[in-house]
Amino acid sequence: MADCIFCKIVAGEIPCEKILDTDVAFAFMDIGPLAEGHVLLIPRAHYETLDAMPAEEAGALLRHLPALVNAVRDVTGCEGVNVLQNNGRVAHQVVPHVHFHVIPRNPGDEFHFNWPAGEYGEGRMQDLGEAIRRALPRGS
Ligand code: 5GP
Ligand code: ZN
Repeated sequence: MADCIFCKIVAGEIPCEKILDTDVAFAFMDIGPLAEGHVLLIPRAHYETLDAMPAEEAGALLRHLPALVNAVRDVTGCEGVNVLQNNGRVAHQVVPHVHFHVIPRNPGDEFHFNWPAGEYGEGRMQDLGEAIRRALPRGS
């Protein structure tokens, strides 16, 4: 897509610190790291959100995550890693090209979640579970 920052990075029009480059996947250092070693894994092709990606292509992209997580942990010596993927502005997606954040984590670091876990009323979880199962395409 013509005015997408990440498409320009894939095309080599904007420089990046490249980590991995295949026919489907591309990974590079995040320029505004939440911690040193923060890497972004993206599809070469432009999809705005994850749900827009064909399953095969998503699979070919995601197969790189375990090795990336291992490499980031080995190099940074971090204790844990968050893999985050934001879809939509409300979910804190700023760049509208699918990307997975690989973020090193250490005790006492500056990255905090607000994780307001709720609880379901009687039967609500089961109703939603049934609705979601029905919404899945055949063969999922
Ligand atoms: P989002 O909030 O959309 O999930 O995350 C977008 C990420 O892209 C941010 O962490 C930001 O630092 C990173 N980013 C934005 N523009 C550039 C860029 O031009 N180069 C690199 N390497 N990272 C970028
Ligand atoms: Zn793009």
